[in-house]
Amino acid sequence: MSESLLQPPGPLYEMAQHQFLKAAELINLDENIKRFLLWPQRILTVHFPVMKDNGEVQMFVGYRVQHNTARGPAKGGIRYHPNVNLDEVASLAFWMTWKCAVMNLPYGGGKGGVRVNPKEFSEREIERLSRRFFSEIQMMIGPNKDIPAPDVNTNEQIMAWYMDTYSMNVGATVLSVVTGKPVDLGGSEGRSEATGRGVSIVASEAADVLGMDIRNATVAVQGFGNVGSNTARIISKEYGAKVVAVSDISGGVYNENGLDIDDLISYRDENGGLIKGYPKGKPITNRELLTLDVDILIPAALENAITADIAKDIKAKIIIEGANGPTTEEAEKILLEKGVFIVPDILANAGGVTVSYFEWVQDLQSFFWDIDDIRKKLKRIMVKQFGEVYKTKKKFNTDMRTAAYIVAIDRVAMAVKRRGYYPM
Ligand code: NAD
Repeated sequence: MSESLLQPPGPLYEMAQHQFLKAAELINLDENIKRFLLWPQRILTVHFPVMKDNGEVQMFVGYRVQHNTARGPAKGGIRYHPNVNLDEVASLAFWMTWKCAVMNLPYGGGKGGVRVNPKEFSEREIERLSRRFFSEIQMMIGPNKDIPAPDVNTNEQIMAWYMDTYSMNVGATVLSVVTGKPVDLGGSEGRSEATGRGVSIVASEAADVLGMDIRNATVAVQGFGNVGSNTARIISKEYGAKVVAVSDISGGVYNENGLDIDDLISYRDENGGLIKGYPKGKPITNRELLTLDVDILIPAALENAITADIAKDIKAKIIIEGANGPTTEEAEKILLEKGVFIVPDILANAGGVTVSYFEWVQDLQSFFWDIDDIRKKLKRIMVKQFGEVYKTKKKFNTDMRTAAYIVAIDRVAMAVKRRGYYPM
């Protein structure tokens, strides 16, 4: 697959290339387009200094990668984590291209990261790090070039600092340069619940096509952070599903009559962010949660949560990937053989980037929409794109992940074809 003089940034990126090639081959993708889309378009590595509160200067490394910008400016989050590396950032940028395309958003794929454990630094140090990093990558960034957003360990305050830093550097306030900002500073209503809302919408669509009644369907959710808790809340309160189990890093809780999610969220918030010790249910492990006899399983914690060993014991009929990459390649094979219907991450958790897109549009127009409007627009897009992917799955007699890739690749390929290979 590799061009003789090109090297993938690492093994994760190589795996991502395989996923792409599986779908590309099914649709006989033009060889020139395939060659072009296999590689990240731009990679920037920066080493930069941050003055700590004690006056010492520490050096950091950070990255911004744009995989492809054929359909529009790059879009994708920036994460702060001690394991950040170029392979991971490039792979996440690659996946963002397909996630934006499967939602038909006018964006390409990007991602960034800084290798840092933010818990070891004060808020002022994180502010200085954020502002310096954003200045370092500014040559790639802009409302028409590349629009970052929050990811692991970055939040709306950091987005506000990014926006302010860019604005100070260019001498004008530019709200549309990042998304995921606070609502009182150009952020969008509904952004924080958007991923969980999108997950709930596609869960309901998946139940529909399988002839399952979402009302009273039993659900288990792994992860009780932003995605997991919003999903559990919305799928139970608005769709009538019965969430019988949730878990987080501290373990899980099970109640066969259904959990009161608002009550559990309050408990978590008063208990250092963890659900451990919640009294209105029986404690269970994460493995037990994943293998419960439920209709719908929603992994919404981390990548690689569902391994081959767990997959063989999974009883759920539907899996909705709230997290990015929660199912290993081996596990997916086992699940597909068992007939489990898997809605892949690039479709299932795309509600977040979709409302980020709404934020960018609102900032560019300086005209803000209300929450009902945002929920309606999000639902319309998610239902439509779920339908496109499902239709493609039927047409190619394939799984939902490959179908989602096919839909996305088709759209990006069309943009590449129409734009051509400059200079011709
Ligand atoms: P978060 O940090 O708010 O929550 C993560 C949750 O997972 C926490 O409850 C944590 O305790 C739990 N967790 C961590 N390790 C675990 C383990 N080993 N077993 C069980 N639970 C564990 O993060 P989030 O924003 O909810 O993101 C979750 C996933 O969804 C990530 O894969 C992220 O990339 C993906 N995602 C998030 C968004 C978004 O808008 N937040 C959008 C798209 C995709």
